[in-house]
Formats: sequence, C-alpha cells, structure tokens
Amino acid sequence: MVTAAPGEDRSPALALVNTRRPAADDLATPGAAADWLREHGLEAAVSGPDSLRRLTDLRAAVRELLAALAEGRTPDAAAIQTVNTAARTDAAALQLAWRDGPLSEWQSARPGTLEAAMAALSRDAIEVVSGALGPLVRPCEAHGCIRYYLREHARRRWCSTTCGDRVRAARHHRLVVEQRDEPR
Ligand SMILES: [Zn+2]
Repeated sequence: MVTAAPGEDRSPALALVNTRRPAADDLATPGAAADWLREHGLEAAVSGPDSLRRLTDLRAAVRELLAALAEGRTPDAAAIQTVNTAARTDAAALQLAWRDGPLSEWQSARPGTLEAAMAALSRDAIEVVSGALGPLVRPCEAHGCIRYYLREHARRRWCSTTCGDRVRAARHHRLVVEQRDEPR
C-alpha cells in the first residue's frame, strides 16, 4: 500500500491519476479497479477488459489535464473531450441534503454503475482543474516519480516523504562523489 499524495483525500480524480506509477498499477485488473473505486466511495462493477479500458482511458485524459495545467499549456483536445463525455454519460443532478446543516451533493440517476463512478471522477477533475485547487496541482519533482499532488505548503516539492528522502539521499551521494573526485 502506497501512502496517498497530498490532495488525494480532496480529489478522487487526482487519486485516479496516481494509480499509475512506474512499477505498479492499482487498476491492473477489473477486480483491482473495482476495489479501488470502492475504497474511494465509488462502488461500481468493472465487468471486463472493455470497462477497465474506459476507466484507464479516463485516467490518461485526466493526467493530460493535470500535466497541461502544471506546465501552463493547453491540453490535448481529445483529453478534454474524454473527460466531458464521461461527465455527461450519467444524468446526475445537484441535490440538497440536510445533515447538521445544508449540504449540496451530486446524485446519480444510475448509482452503482461504472458510468456513475466515471462521471463523478470527471466532475471532480473539471472542478479541480477549473477551480481554486487548480493552481496547486504539481508533478512530484523526484526523479522517476510520476505522481501529482496538491501543493498546499509553498515549500513542498515531492509527493511523499519517501520521494523527498530519495532526492536528499541522491543529492548527498552526488556531493560525496564530487568531493572525492576533486583534485588535491
Ligand atoms: Zn513522488
């Protein structure tokens, strides 16, 4: 189990992007994908390779949006289209709930389906990219890490203490090598 990157608790779309890492994929099989969705409050059946492909295509599209945002460029039109298509596949409506006070929640017309889960992830991606959290989206700066996180503290540059320690260790190693190689 990998430690969640900062912001994953606030954005399931960010967590979705981070399911793909250089040597691991939390969505490797339909069963693993269904487990991941359940862990993120998006209970849905992932019935086979085609369903899984739709979910991983959405993941790639959301990654492109986050990358474009962090790099200050316009994303691929296809990525925007993939996210928008997934967002409107489920006829969800904003509803008012009252639990210790007023709350707005999106309620799906087809709860428990993959369409509903993908629409929820897409809505979150749209809200993150276009909203107040957008400017905080950053790629981890550690070499070989491809995760994204929300930079909630100005000095944070890594997605985890593991990545931070790795960068510091590499820097220390470089320093030691440079000192050793210096002519006396
Ligand atoms: Zn990292």
